[in-house]
Amino acid sequence: MPTRRTKRGELRTELTGDYDVLICGASFAGLAVARELAGATRPDGSPARVLMVDRYEVGERQTSACGIPTSWLEALDLMGSHRQTFSELVVTTPYGTSRWPLPWTFSTFDYAELCRMLLAQSDCDLETAKVNGRSGDTVHTDRGDLTAPLIVDALGWRRKLARGAGFQPPAAPLSRGLEVHPHGQGGDLAIWIDREIVPAGYGWSFPAGEELRIGVGSFDPRFHVKDNTVKLAEGLGSEAVRYQGNWIPHKLRPAVENGVFFAGDSAGHCLPLTAEGIRTALYFGIACGRELRLAVAGERTRGDALRRYAAFSDSHEWKFRWILRAQHTVPKVWPRVLHGVVGAMRQRRLVDWSFGHYLAIAPPEFVKPAPAPRVRRGAAAGSGRSAA
Ligand SMILES: Cc1cc2nc3c(=O)[nH]c(=O)nc-3n(C[C@H](O)[C@H](O)[C@H](O)COP(=O)(O)OP(=O)(O)OC[C@H]3O[C@@H](n4cnc5c(N)ncnc54)[C@H](O)[C@@H]3O)c2cc1C
Repeated sequence: MPTRRTKRGELRTELTGDYDVLICGASFAGLAVARELAGATRPDGSPARVLMVDRYEVGERQTSACGIPTSWLEALDLMGSHRQTFSELVVTTPYGTSRWPLPWTFSTFDYAELCRMLLAQSDCDLETAKVNGRSGDTVHTDRGDLTAPLIVDALGWRRKLARGAGFQPPAAPLSRGLEVHPHGQGGDLAIWIDREIVPAGYGWSFPAGEELRIGVGSFDPRFHVKDNTVKLAEGLGSEAVRYQGNWIPHKLRPAVENGVFFAGDSAGHCLPLTAEGIRTALYFGIACGRELRLAVAGERTRGDALRRYAAFSDSHEWKFRWILRAQHTVPKVWPRVLHGVVGAMRQRRLVDWSFGHYLAIAPPEFVKPAPAPRVRRGAAAGSGRSAA
């Protein structure tokens, strides 16, 4: 079980202060923002004051099956977290199994290791605190108030720092995902499109070295996936142990709102249909970090940075919309017809074309070498910088 480092009662130290940038959330999106801010300076050349907060230790709480195009691990110099690589996707329907020869490889990685490596590419201060809300430029945490003109919400699907009544399942455009992590080995990156497993969605098995990540995702948030996740795992001869699940946003949301930058799941940057949200959280996090870096240096106004980042995110809207259409369509296709489509994808030309376009939504070439991190300035007030 993950443990919150923020202690209760007297053990809870106070955390207050003013920063140039406050990054809320230290998973994929938040860490990518922090990476781009390494070595950032203010207009007078002094080091930018950047703080990242999360309610858990960095890397402590795995949030996914941790599958990503291998080229993204390479581009970000994160191969040290790599577990297994696949050059085929094995797709099973009730009528048979097809092996799609992928034009690029997909890999699984270790979450804690990847977070540690990404954190090492940044130099911001890090604190453990639960974010409760915001008033203007002030973020309220369970340890005190933090103020910054540039605030990033990388807190995941809840989009905690937005205004309004919130985004609650099952009414919100969220998919439901749950997986188990039994010990074991496998050679295939496999998915199941079968209404017996989930009426709208898919089941998966992602091997990762000595562990399997077996799960079920439902595009319909009202469909409970626990029983079928257990059935799928047991059907594959694995134990249903070490659960992890979450809501997965499947609709793009505004990337800026009331002066706050949103990146990753908080902006709905997870791709519909495939529920691939790590690559896109990193991609949009990098884009956000680049704008913030220029704003901190005084080379852009805050308003310009907000506008430019919003325009960047919006320019992807039609791609997300088309994939969402596919997400709505696939469950309605008669299973035998769907099996025919799945079988056709074995053709190299078709799979090259579709997976080529798919990767181009957030291509690895977007990543540039990390700016050199400064020697750490040490911790801000309170518990200090740490990684699990
Ligand atoms: C079962 C499952 C399997 C998945 N598998 C894959 C996969 O294999 N590949 C893939 O690409 N995508 C996968 N996804 C989707 C992927 O996990 C998300 O899209 C991705 O994690 C989004 O990253 P993020 O940084 O935006 O948010 P998150 O990873 O959700 O991180 C949010 C961070 O904010 C912190 N936080 C939240 N609330 C607070 C608060 N109030 N105060 C302080 N901190 C807070 C959390 O502790 C966390 O560190 C999967 C999702 C699920 C549910």
